[in-house]
Amino acid sequence: MAAFYNTHIHTFRGDKDVPENYLPIGLVKLLSTKVGFFIVANLMSWLNSFSKNGMFERYRLFAALGKLGSQQAIFEKCYNEYPKDTKFIVLTMDMAYMGAGAVPRKYEDQLIELSNLQKIYPDNVLPFIHIDCRRDNCFDLFKTAIEQWNFKGLKLYPTLGTFPFDKRYYPIYEYCQTHNLPVVAHCSDGNPVFYKGKKNDLLQLLQGSTIPLVLGKKDNKALCAYFTHPLNYQQVMDDFPNLKICLAHYGKGNDAPNDVGGMNWDQTIKEMMKTYPNLYVDCAYSLYNQNWWSSIKVQLSTDPLLRDHFMFGSDFYMLEVDGTEKQCDIDFRAFIGEELFQQIAVTNPKKFMNVS
Ligand SMILES: [Zn+2]
Repeated sequence: MAAFYNTHIHTFRGDKDVPENYLPIGLVKLLSTKVGFFIVANLMSWLNSFSKNGMFERYRLFAALGKLGSQQAIFEKCYNEYPKDTKFIVLTMDMAYMGAGAVPRKYEDQLIELSNLQKIYPDNVLPFIHIDCRRDNCFDLFKTAIEQWNFKGLKLYPTLGTFPFDKRYYPIYEYCQTHNLPVVAHCSDGNPVFYKGKKNDLLQLLQGSTIPLVLGKKDNKALCAYFTHPLNYQQVMDDFPNLKICLAHYGKGNDAPNDVGGMNWDQTIKEMMKTYPNLYVDCAYSLYNQNWWSSIKVQLSTDPLLRDHFMFGSDFYMLEVDGTEKQCDIDFRAFIGEELFQQIAVTNPKKFMNVS
């Protein structure tokens, strides 16, 4: 079998790339010391049982992996669990505009570190640059990453507070479309990484929503789902018909309440696939939910459009327990069978990456 792709992993560093107020009451600073880490990491799961939004648990992973000290060490922790010729789309993260304070190091440093890792693993690491359009000169940064640092595509993370149809992204989409560069976009509701600033600021950011806002008693996390709703990509795909966009985390929202048109997010995406041939999905994070495997196997076996646009991605290290990555991937591969696996881990990613 040809080398396969894992189209969705992360190697950014919890100690350097996550803003200092990501957690309340100075916990981020405390976690950066050895003793503090030991105490807080063990308290985290306890804290987490009181926190309905999963934010402590997510940060515990950021901090634990950050302790490895380099993106190379984080990457190798994942890479070593796969066949040596596996290719990984590695997604960076710009968390400077999520209303959680300053990020310890410059975003450029995260990008350059990943670019250097790409030089060590030229056949295995496919870096995608996350752009937040609130960053000054983000188009120039994007161009530099592609043209000088060997980045291969664009990452969007709308839950941090921007809509994908924001016109500030358009020059980048234009560039991607012209140069055949694909886009991976975070697309799930109930995500623990979201805009953490003041509610009033968030409501301001949500002003441009094309989906009618139902505010009720929703907290920031719930409200941020409006940024990342699949329907927000219709306008982008109408304006850039040749742009390949992967809506990540298919299968995570299949229990989400029906919000627009009586359909959940997965159903909405499947409907959109009928109109937009360049729309893809991945199973990042959803993969870890074994209860979902039967459902997705049946969907892939009976829906040819989905089968031709579904990609294998794991979301390493967002749900990391030692040994899980390998076991989960092999179990999943055995469960869906070689023919489907070849389709979602080789054929579709190659089409997505424009590789023959
Ligand atoms: Zn992810």
